[in-house]
Amino acid sequence: MPFNVLQNELNERAALGLLRQRRTLQSPQSPHILVDGKPYLSFCSNDYLGLANHPQLIAAMQQGAAQYGAGAGAAHLVSGHTQAHHELEIALAAFAGKPAALLFSTGYMANLGIVQALVGKGDTVFADKLNHASLNDAMQLARADIKRYRHGDMLQLNQLLAQTQKGRKLVITDAVFSMDGDIAPLPELLALCEQHDAWLLVDDAHGFGVLGEQGRGSLAHFGIATPRIIYMATLGKAAGVFGAFVAAEQAVIDTLINHAHSYIYTTATPPALASAVLESLALIAQGHELRAHLQGLIAQLRGGLRGLPWPLMPSATAIQPLLIGDNQAALDLSAALRERGIWVAAIRPPTVPQGTARLRITLSSAHSAADVTRLIGALHELAQG
Ligand SMILES: *Cc1c(COP(=O)(O)O)cnc(C)c1O
Repeated sequence: MPFNVLQNELNERAALGLLRQRRTLQSPQSPHILVDGKPYLSFCSNDYLGLANHPQLIAAMQQGAAQYGAGAGAAHLVSGHTQAHHELEIALAAFAGKPAALLFSTGYMANLGIVQALVGKGDTVFADKLNHASLNDAMQLARADIKRYRHGDMLQLNQLLAQTQKGRKLVITDAVFSMDGDIAPLPELLALCEQHDAWLLVDDAHGFGVLGEQGRGSLAHFGIATPRIIYMATLGKAAGVFGAFVAAEQAVIDTLINHAHSYIYTTATPPALASAVLESLALIAQGHELRAHLQGLIAQLRGGLRGLPWPLMPSATAIQPLLIGDNQAALDLSAALRERGIWVAAIRPPTVPQGTARLRITLSSAHSAADVTRLIGALHELAQG
């Protein structure tokens, strides 16, 4: 058989508890999902504000489809760039407090495009070791020199920046680390970038919509506004739809339009998605109560999980990982919860470092306090064996 070698590799992965498999949802994304005909209480979406199934977004998408059709039919630079995309970019720039913004199809593609367009051979990218896979792939694609610093280690970053004399310098970081939930020290990162004349790319996939005044994200959270930062966020997490954007100085945006391959050589997203995101922005800006409720749930969970044999990792965000360590133990705990009708994903290497397999609990404004109480109860029961 031609693919025996692949099957053998897959079998080896399975033996290590590392095989990845999908489950099929038969319901919209929400805390209460249907999988294989069974209802589950879910703590594993990134739908932090519970907007993915919001009636206003569904209506906006229907309206956008009625006006612009199902597909964009071409790349942005050919004839796929519609008024819906255009209006959304203006709104996103204003919301992010930047002169201009550019839509990408996905966050993964945005990161590939930004890094590849801004740096190349002879330049250097500085990256936190726990950055998202898309940022890691982006720096490989860009062919710049790569210097990775220990998670949050500003002393090491300072040294690495100081050692680099020639070429452009670009520091790239998750704002909220996707598998840990902690927030990057953006004021310190910015100070180092200013000191060493480096650019700073902030990936706010998990902060946009959730952190800062009106949900404007991590920069607002820290009260940072500077042309030196290239701000990127995704629209498929708290915003509840799909896609991503970059907000930055006009010269950065124009450079991306001219040089980012993942922008240029791909079909524009359906305009109806842009219509839905525009509606989502309004809900995010008005979403004080959603964010306050989410903060309450985070406090409730952290308080309720004290005293378990597995520590909660230090996090003030909706991402609340429970550190298990062993791959199989994490899978077993996830399976035991599932038997109790609760869905929490086990995250294993290489997504996280070896020996740090975890249950990545994520909370959403759509959860009730009773939902969180049920999870806390189940974990305490399982801890007692
Ligand atoms: C999810 C995520 C991305 C990718 O965004 P998509 O729109 O899902 O492709 C990029 N960066 C981080 C930190 C993420 O968590």
